[in-house]
Amino acid sequence: MNAANLEVGREIREAIDGVIGRGWYVLGQEVEAFENEFAAHVGAKYCVGVGNGLDALSLALRAHGIGRGDEVIVPTNTFIATWLAVSHLGAIPVPVEPDPSSMNIDPLAVEAAITPRTRAICPVHLYGLPADIPSIEAIAGPRGIAVIEDAAQAHGASLGGASVGSLGNTATWSFYPGKNLGAMGDGGAVTTDDVEVANSLRSLRNYGSSQKYVHEVPGVNSRLDELQAAVLRVKLRRLSTGNRRRREIANQYVEEMSALDVVLPRVVSGVDSSWHLFVVRSKERDSLQEALKRREVASLIHYPIPPHLQGAYAEEFRRGQFPIAEQLSSEVLSLPIGPHLRPIEAKRVVHAMREACSRTTDLPTT
Ligand SMILES: *Cc1c(COP(=O)(O)O)cnc(C)c1O
Repeated sequence: MNAANLEVGREIREAIDGVIGRGWYVLGQEVEAFENEFAAHVGAKYCVGVGNGLDALSLALRAHGIGRGDEVIVPTNTFIATWLAVSHLGAIPVPVEPDPSSMNIDPLAVEAAITPRTRAICPVHLYGLPADIPSIEAIAGPRGIAVIEDAAQAHGASLGGASVGSLGNTATWSFYPGKNLGAMGDGGAVTTDDVEVANSLRSLRNYGSSQKYVHEVPGVNSRLDELQAAVLRVKLRRLSTGNRRRREIANQYVEEMSALDVVLPRVVSGVDSSWHLFVVRSKERDSLQEALKRREVASLIHYPIPPHLQGAYAEEFRRGQFPIAEQLSSEVLSLPIGPHLRPIEAKRVVHAMREACSRTTDLPTT
């Protein structure tokens, strides 16, 4: 373990000891302090801590008044949580295809999917790359449609200098351990500039209650807990350093893999990804993954099956309906990236990619 890890470990243990010392575990000073610190980090007025990223989405939708029979536009290529949050409310997910070059939801396709029943749009900042929220707001705003950003992969990402979460009205976050800002268990939050949405969320997460044993609405039990909040406060102080390291690795990959026969993530100035994942695309994805594995480089697929082809949605959708999402799911491959990936390991990834790509495409080795 290196010095930085020892240091963060010590700070986390101290923070946990503080919670144990107070003996107060649900909705207390750590959650309140984290909510204030995370709101400030994001540049939003309010933050409400909840149990996980899925609840953050469905409670944010409820706080915006979305319910049974309402249509909510979601990307075809996302983690299934974005869809399930809508379905769990009895609302209808309306899938919209991405722009293949950014892999984020296509604003023109969003506009085409709007009907009189559309009540919200949930763009996802997929892999950490900010979606085009200004264009989506321009379509949604005049029609009174809410834009609720799924920012579960985009802690610290920014667009034109404005951080994700400050671009639209409401954004939802996950602190699942693998995210850029991860707890030591489940956690989530909603950030918003709307005081009514914030108040509604505080009640919804806590049994629909703002006064003990008085229940105005049928809420749920979904609260960020004190231990996770204490851990997250320590980790939040290291988020930008971790993201900076991710960006260095991404820049290195883009530069050193530019001659290879794979589609690399596009780096556009003013669009700052959190580099949650570094996703390349290849027509020979499966053999590329095998070749990397033989060279002891572990890669992953996000995601191998789009939501519309999952058993959970078998009754509503069929194969062939969303060809872009289907094609992407057969081509995407996530290479190792993270704040703790050492320079020697990043070099090894580049080397393995050069060998693997020349093997699968007969290009000369560079
Ligand atoms: C992780 C994730 C979620 C869900 O977060 P959980 O905390 O695991 O419930 C939602 N949307 C996206 C895009 C995610 O990556």
